[in-house]
Amino acid sequence: MRKEVAAAAAITVGGAAFGVALFLRHWERQREQRLRQAKRILRKFANDCATPVSKLWNVANDLCSNMEAGLSSEESELGMLVSYIEPLPTGEEKGIYYGINLRGTNFLLIRGRLGGKNLPISELQREEVAIPSSAMDGDSTEELFDLIAVELAKFISVHSEIDGEAESRERKLGFTISFPVEEDAVSSGTAIKWRSLSVNDIVGKELTNDINQSLEKLGIDLRVFALVNDTTGDLAGGRYYSKENVAAITLGMATDVSYVESAEQVPKWHGQSPNSGEMIVNMQWGNFSSSHLPFTEFDASLDAESSNPGSRMFEKLISGMYLGEIVRRVLLKMAQETALFGDWVPPKLATPYLLRSPDMAAMHQDTSEDFETVDEKLNEIFGINNSTPMAREIVAEVCDVVAERGARLVGVGIVGIVKKLGRIANKKSVITIEGGLYEHYRVFRNYLHSSVWEVLGSDLSDNVIIENCHGGSGAGSIFLAASQTYNADSY
Ligand code: ADP
Ligand code: MG
Repeated sequence: MRKEVAAAAAITVGGAAFGVALFLRHWERQREQRLRQAKRILRKFANDCATPVSKLWNVANDLCSNMEAGLSSEESELGMLVSYIEPLPTGEEKGIYYGINLRGTNFLLIRGRLGGKNLPISELQREEVAIPSSAMDGDSTEELFDLIAVELAKFISVHSEIDGEAESRERKLGFTISFPVEEDAVSSGTAIKWRSLSVNDIVGKELTNDINQSLEKLGIDLRVFALVNDTTGDLAGGRYYSKENVAAITLGMATDVSYVESAEQVPKWHGQSPNSGEMIVNMQWGNFSSSHLPFTEFDASLDAESSNPGSRMFEKLISGMYLGEIVRRVLLKMAQETALFGDWVPPKLATPYLLRSPDMAAMHQDTSEDFETVDEKLNEIFGINNSTPMAREIVAEVCDVVAERGARLVGVGIVGIVKKLGRIANKKSVITIEGGLYEHYRVFRNYLHSSVWEVLGSDLSDNVIIENCHGGSGAGSIFLAASQTYNADSY
């Protein structure tokens, strides 16, 4: 009897064990199958994002022809706004100068000393002031400009010094504007019309007068000469350091480029010819589009669901605002179609713009064996706490594909500009880049540099020098003030 029970029990245990083994095998097979599916999505995505050199040249050539079109006509994809005429800084500017950089919700007050002879900016002081929403919401800019004037007066009195040299001249105050990413969305209901300004812009001129009235009311002896976008300010800064600085790029949340163009190349310019023969053109390259750009289904849905469908297509591929969002969309599809994170679609994975590029960068640059940072970030951002090392590896690879594509497109954008300027073959060109994406995302920066090298080859790419912008965000306003105050007499 006992034997029979034992035998039956053995059969049952054996059967259960068999069942468990069967289940485990099934589960394992299913997991492998899902992983294969996820990898298939990844491969297709990587393929769609590919930027071989031949494709990059097509993009560069399209950018050149779009630039030419924009310089000839007002009706063009690229704004190509003439945004600063002269005098461009020469590097000889000396003295203490003040600048203001107006951003979406705050402004920076900046002060610094230039030593001439291309000596680096020194004694740099900056202060950030938050803008109360009442000052941004109204129809009038008076409250905002009065606030700026009051804060500037305080700032000057704290840092006051007599700068004998420029005392006798009318001193200029540099004023730059950083445009928020979604200009269209932000512009409604704000006193400042957030749009890029050309030198002839009537709104810009009115605003300049209004600021000067606020300064005058407080007895501040500085005058704003124009509102200039911050990318153009950065280029003025670059010019102080090097005559070969031909372009400045902003690469943070948003992206833009200003570059130095010869006046003859701007048929749409009907104003006075600059004495130097040069002017700064703000490209608004975020708006660039080309059939050669590697758009994927994920970019299409991001664009369709954005507040400005069909516009700023280049920005949507390369800027800090969008990189993480593209990654999120790919991961969501993988979660839905391959159960990458198990049998559920983590609800937070469906929340747009939840993945920001600093977190994406952290996952991408995770070198630990089991992708521990990826694990932490997935948990922290999306509440995914059961990811397998294989799934995490796929996440890191998605980040890699998105960053590589974006960075290579920026790189080839630079090549396009240098080509447009006819400087590829035998001239040195310095390009400065400002912004958190370039500054802090190491792998992105490396991809950017290596794409220029790959497209131009090692000899020609030696002529293209890409470096961090000088003085940090907003400092361009100081160089604009300096060139207007110091060099104005020579024109
Ligand atoms: P903006 O002036 O356009 O708001 P910033 O130049 O200050 O932007 O840069 C901030 C942006 O840079 C962030 O939105 C982010 O996209 C990107 N960024 C900042 N730090 C990092 C990082 N460590 N890794 C990747 N991207 C980063
Ligand atoms: Mg910035």
